[in-house]
Order: sequence, then structure tokens, then C-alpha cells
Amino acid sequence: MAPLPASSASPPSAAAVAALAALTAVHASTAGVVMAAPVPAPAAGAVDADAGAAAAPPTMMHAPLTAWPSEVRAEAYDTAVAVTPALNRLVHALAADTPFLSKHLNEVSKGDDFTRRLLALHTSPAVPLPSPLPPAFRAAPPAALGLYRYDYFMQAPPPPGSPPAPTVCQVELNTMAASFGCLGARVRGVHALTVAAGLGPSGVTADDLPANDVEARLAAGLAAGHAAYIADDRSRGLDGGLPALPVVVVQPGERNVYDQTLLGLALLRATGGAVPLQRLSLAQLSAWGTLDATTNALVVRLPTDEASAAAVAGAGGQWATSITAYRVSVAYFRAGYTPDDYPTDAEWAARAALHASDAIAVPTVGVQLVGTKKVQQVLTSAGEVERYLGPAESAEVRTTFMPQLSLAPGPEGDANAATAVADPDAWVLKPQREGGGNNLYGADVAAALRRMDPVERGGWVLMRRILPVRVPNVVVRGGRGQPAEVVCELGVFAVYLARAGGEVTINEASGTLLRSKLADVEDGGVAAGVAVLDSVRLVR
Ligand code: ADP
Ligand code: MG
Repeated sequence: MAPLPASSASPPSAAAVAALAALTAVHASTAGVVMAAPVPAPAAGAVDADAGAAAAPPTMMHAPLTAWPSEVRAEAYDTAVAVTPALNRLVHALAADTPFLSKHLNEVSKGDDFTRRLLALHTSPAVPLPSPLPPAFRAAPPAALGLYRYDYFMQAPPPPGSPPAPTVCQVELNTMAASFGCLGARVRGVHALTVAAGLGPSGVTADDLPANDVEARLAAGLAAGHAAYIADDRSRGLDGGLPALPVVVVQPGERNVYDQTLLGLALLRATGGAVPLQRLSLAQLSAWGTLDATTNALVVRLPTDEASAAAVAGAGGQWATSITAYRVSVAYFRAGYTPDDYPTDAEWAARAALHASDAIAVPTVGVQLVGTKKVQQVLTSAGEVERYLGPAESAEVRTTFMPQLSLAPGPEGDANAATAVADPDAWVLKPQREGGGNNLYGADVAAALRRMDPVERGGWVLMRRILPVRVPNVVVRGGRGQPAEVVCELGVFAVYLARAGGEVTINEASGTLLRSKLADVEDGGVAAGVAVLDSVRLVR
């Protein structure tokens, strides 16, 4: 196979594309860049994290990806990585500022019931403590752990003489359930070999691909959180009781299961096999979990009958097969960020129990609220970031901000709505939702703003539309390749760990994820079926 031209001006031949796509698909599959094949939806109310997948043998297919690494300007990449520790501190300072969260989210809550329920949980008075307090009782988790991903688009530098504009633009802070870290890191490995074998665009070498150890860094974060829980156990003389295990809270039947499995395997590797990651859905946590009155631990007792045991195993795998009762040390959410994850009161009960317990929630409800689009809009206002970060750091973070506008009921919101209605292509309209596919663009922005009453409108924010750099690539799905212009969204993973006393022991950028989508598609992520996995090739 000849190297492919790097420019869309000379498109590769159909035969070259087909051959490269077939090779990429096989390499991706063998490298673990896989998702579960579609399976029937679980029965309503099934207490089964992997229903459907559990009923059938696990099947997998390669996750959609590009054929070669897309170019990202080194300056943009370096800025996005450099601001990460400051963003971590900002997230945790905001989560601790309940008056700030209440002030800005009360208004949104009137038009958005999901935010209202989360805010109510965050601000609800602490559960009455038992009296006298048992000596082993832990009223709060022994540490705060964050596994985040901060996302950016790259814009071309403005032409000389025009007003300055950011070249790396923050799209959003993902403070909950940031996914595809493990798969993304493996795409880098696939691409490194593609270019080393001379099959990518001419002139590209594996040296242009920055190292990416997301898998190990996220696993190290989970291991450190679990270790903090165990260390606190020891200091309280609790280590003779039930074993403690970290849990990943998952969506029933989700397809991105192997990204989580790879993280569980990385955690086993990081701990010499000592710390297995358990998979549980919110429904399972609700059915099998109880708060222990003497320790405030969330205790999970797994059902031992045969039918339930099969459901416990599920497609993602359970490693602690001989442990049927354990305390949750770390609850790492890969679910719970959308109202769809709470179909009944049982899921909310599980969330409330976790919130009240001594488990280290990743994230806490407060940190989840920091990830709302409303908070991110407020942060772009003058003086807000500066309340939490020093002047130099604030200025650095601000270089990545795009203007955002409030739509709260009142004259300012009315004026902002009118601005967007007059020029709808310049704005994106965002609700308080995560997971892709929820934003509105262009004519839909104007139509929605005209239709909504002020209270409903207050549940949305406006963000200046980013026009990302377009680059040529080949998108590979189901083994077939499609040459295309793509736009790339750079995600920087972040890990943060603070002990209960406040000492910060981890605060780092922990690798990256590049997701690309056809340049003319407006919204959506990989899980939503729009974007594909990619990797970074730095250009200077
Ligand atoms: P979600 O929580 O649904 O992922 P995002 O803010 O990340 O919300 O928006 C989803 C997608 O919409 C992004 O991945 C990006 O493709 C697109 N998008 C978001 N904000 C903008 C913007 N300001 N300009 C252009 N596209 C945007
Ligand atoms: Mg997003």
C-alpha cells in the first residue's frame, strides 16, 4: 500500500481507502478499540446492569475511528494541557461553594426538573447522625476524587488585522462519566503503527504523536482513592470488617462497556490484582445496597441465587467473584448524568444513599452541578473565575473561553435572546443536559427562543458558535472507509485527589482523547453515533 496524500486536494483512490479501512478495523479490534454490538434493550425494571448483553454471549465490534491521527496545533494542545490543574482546582472550589451553586441553579431549576432534584440533594440537610455517634462512624468520605475531561475545539488563528479570538476554545467541562479514555489511548497505538508503516499521510511519523497514558493515569487515580479509603479504615480500626471495593456505576445494557472493562483491567494491573472494579447499575445499588448504621458505609450484598448471579456477571465482567458482600470504597459514575438514568425512584434512592454514605463519589453531586451548562456560562462572566483562581491562572483559563450568555427571565435574558434570534448562526443553544445531541443550532435556535416562555428559557444558555479547523481524514465504520473533512474535539483527561484535611495529592492532566466528526455535522459524541475516535498528531 502506498502512503496516502495528506491533502483533500488529491483524494486517495477508492481501492487505497478500502484497504486502509480494512486494516484499521482489524488492528483496532485486536488492540481493544471495541464496543459491544447492539443488543436488545433490557426489560423495563430489570435489576441487571448488562441485561440483554448478559443473556447473549458478549459480542464486540470495532469502535468507529479515523484511519490516521488528525493534526492539532501544538500550541493549542499545550495550552489545553497546561490549564488542567487550574481547572481541577476551580471545579473543586465551586463544588464547595453551595451559595454560588444555589444562586445560579435555583433559577435554572424552575425550568429544569433534573437540575432541581440534584440541587435539592446537594443542599439537603445532612442525615441526622446517630446519637451517641458510634466510634467507627464516618460522616463524610475520607477523600475527594475527580476523574474529569475538559473538551476543546481548535479554531484557526484570526487573519492579521482582525480582532483577537481564542485558537483553543473550551466546549465544556465534563465533570461526570467522561468516557472513551481507554479506547482513545489505544487508538493512538493503532495510529502510531499505521504511520510508522508508511500508510498514513506522507511526511507523518510516529514521533508526531504525543504519549497518551490515560488508561494507567485513570486507574492510578482510582487506586489512590481506594487506598485513601483503606488508610482511613486502618486509622479507625475498621479494617477487620467487610472488604471494601471500588464500584463503577453503569447504565444497563450500554454499548461502551469495554472502555470500562479496560479501566478495570488497568486497575488490576496497577494493584497487582488486589483491587477489582465492580460493575453495578443504580437499580442494582438500590436493590442490594444498604447504609450501615455503625460505619455509614454503603454495603452491597449480592444475591446468590443462580439467575441473579448470571445478571451480576454481565458483559463487563466481575472480578471479585468470591466476594458477595462488600463496602463501596469509591463509586465511579459512568451513569447518572441524564434523567434517563433515573427511570424510577429506586435509582434516585441509590443516588441519595451514595450521597449520604462514606463512599468516595466520583463525582459528588456538587461536582456534577459544577458541570452544568449554566455554571459554565456564569464562569465566562467577568470576575467569576477570579473569585477562585489567582490573576495569572484566571487569565490563562480565560484565553480558552468563548462568550456565553444567560437566558434567565428578565431584561438581560430578553436582550440576550434577541441577540441570538437576530443572528442565530453565531450561537449554540444549550440545555442542562450531557451526552451529546441536545444542543440547537441555526434556525432551530431562533425558533426555540421564540417559542419558549421565560422560565423554560432560563433552563438554557447561549454559547458563541465555534468554527473548528477542518482537516482531511478517512472515517472507518464497520470496516468501511469514507474520506472526509473532519473537525476534531480535543478532550484532556484530568485526575484530582484531595484528602479530607484538604491536602491535594494528585492534580494533573492525565492524557487526551481526540474525537472527530464530519465537518458539516453539528452535534454529538461517539456514543451518540456521530463522532469517531481519533488521535493527536502535533504540528508546530
Ligand atoms: P454535551 O454535554 O451534550 O456533550 P457539549 O457542550 O459538549 O454538550 O455539546 C455537544 C457537542 O455540540 C460538542 O461535542 C460539539 O460538537 C458541539 N458544540 C458544543 N458547543 C459548541 C459551540 N460553542 N460551537 C460549535 N459546536 C459546539
Ligand atoms: Mg460534550
